[in-house]
Amino acid sequence: MNSPKILDGKSVAAAVLDECRAETAELLTKGIQPGLAVVLIGSDPASQVYVGSKARTCAELGFHSLKIELPAETTQEELLQVVRDLNADPAIHGILVQSPPPKHIDEEAVIREIDPRKDVDGFHPENVAKLVLEDPSGFVPCTPAGCMKLLEVSGINTNGAEAVVIGRSMIVGKPMALLLVSKISNATVTIAHSRSKDLPAICRRADILVAAVGRPEMVKADWVKPGAVVIDVGINRVPDPSKKSGYRLTGDVAYQEVAPLCSAITPVPGGVGPMTIAMLMKNTLQAARQLS
Ligand code: NAD
Repeated sequence: MNSPKILDGKSVAAAVLDECRAETAELLTKGIQPGLAVVLIGSDPASQVYVGSKARTCAELGFHSLKIELPAETTQEELLQVVRDLNADPAIHGILVQSPPPKHIDEEAVIREIDPRKDVDGFHPENVAKLVLEDPSGFVPCTPAGCMKLLEVSGINTNGAEAVVIGRSMIVGKPMALLLVSKISNATVTIAHSRSKDLPAICRRADILVAAVGRPEMVKADWVKPGAVVIDVGINRVPDPSKKSGYRLTGDVAYQEVAPLCSAITPVPGGVGPMTIAMLMKNTLQAARQLS
């Protein structure tokens, strides 16, 4: 049995936030306070938790933070107007609309309304294009950016590696694949998804396996090449009566059986999750610099 390197997102995220704190202090001396606005529509409990921790992190760093809570029945036009007002607000450098919005909201249209220079989630088509073009002035979506930072800090060489990304969402899978195949990372990338044939065989090719699906413990030991690096993006709530909350968090990887095979692996929780918020803060600082 191997003892894999545990990619500790908590400590890497803390280091990224330390850098952000120092940079914020420097910007403040120039009269610039980075400002992040988070818009929450409705009262989805998981979204409330995410929005709360974003606001707390902003406060810890010295950012100006604005939390706009709108009722679930907010119309599309009302929401677009909130976004337009934030686009025009000079105290705000980053805008994000917490996903998922209620069903009657056209999320794509809302994303397009955000000024791409303030789109710190990196979801606006202009930023997607910049990611494809490898233009560093764009914003990279926070979760895949966090995965790349974890790989980099942990000294994992992506050059020429076979990488397999399971999941093709615009939030995680596709940008993750683009980052891995970029001229900086130079991996050979396969994107697998719900229609892929023989997923276990595809995964077994991977030197670096990224799971971003949303299916608890889907990736089993016999899907993983011995010595592989496994990045588990999944955050799934599974019922657990022994917990006060009634659930526990688990990833997309069957950690107990997979970890002994790997050279390195991210735990859930404490792996990719903390990196996402740290990269959001980094993106907001980038926006504040670029807009000032
Ligand atoms: P999504 O539902 O938008 O996309 C899931 C992807 O998985 C799809 O592209 C789909 O094709 C693929 N898929 C579904 N079933 C599959 C199957 N049986 N075999 C192979 N592929 C399959 O989800 P998402 O927004 O990309 O998020 C994925 C997971 O990552 C979720 O658990 C989510 O909670 C988590 N997540 C974590 C963070 C974080 O900060 N750690 C951030 C975003 C998302």
